[in-house]
Amino acid sequence: MAEIHRQRLVGIRKHRFDIVLLGPPGAGKGTQADLLSAKYGITHVNTGELLRALAEEPTQVGEAVRHFLENGLMVPEGVVTRIIEERLSSPDCERGFILDGYPRTASQMVTFDHLLQELGREVFAVIYIEVPDSVCLARLSTRRVCSGCSAVKTIPGGSHQSRAACERCGGRLIRRPDDRPEVVVRRLALFSREIAPVIAKFEREGLLARVDGRNRVNDVFEQITRAIKRKLTNGKS
Ligand code: AMP
Repeated sequence: MAEIHRQRLVGIRKHRFDIVLLGPPGAGKGTQADLLSAKYGITHVNTGELLRALAEEPTQVGEAVRHFLENGLMVPEGVVTRIIEERLSSPDCERGFILDGYPRTASQMVTFDHLLQELGREVFAVIYIEVPDSVCLARLSTRRVCSGCSAVKTIPGGSHQSRAACERCGGRLIRRPDDRPEVVVRRLALFSREIAPVIAKFEREGLLARVDGRNRVNDVFEQITRAIKRKLTNGKS
């Protein structure tokens, strides 16, 4: 037991912990990335959140990005590459990152490979959280986000309780514009169309671990950490 623990610690120190987290909208990537970030002390890089911050800026680019986000469309690659490159080069990603929501297309995959080469880094593991579309749709229909602190909440029963306040800061809980059911359907369709070559490539490289995202948060987290431990010990645990 102590030996396994020691191997794990040595493993974590030896490897730069660069993890990619993939899954459809509503798979629970954000929740799992936050848990991983706390456990391994590495930075959560949330592509959607970076783009939402950019969309708030009173610039032409900000306005254009807002349009893509609100309609559930992919943001043009040049913009996404710029923010990812900037973010992964920051000092807080030095020890490692959990990259949530990127790469999402075959073309982004090629760009990502170049970027990693430039930065002298290598992906350690790719976690693919699998959840059927029907479950994602149901989850996103009850998801609300605090307009004050961005905390994510589930409102049982959906819209009639949407006036509830955030328990953490008292802020108003709102539905993200792209969580409207008609937009979610588009996001899910886009995701499954674009992600296939990305998954196939990571699988060929032996980096991919699939986890069942229908389970409870703690169970999914357990599956993910088990997959990471297996990688750290080269499949010996
Ligand atoms: P998410 O929070 O991951 O569901 O992403 C929210 C939205 O951000 C998506 O519907 C897209 O509009 C945009 N987005 C997120 N990741 C990417 C990406 N890798 N490439 C292009 N657009 C993205």
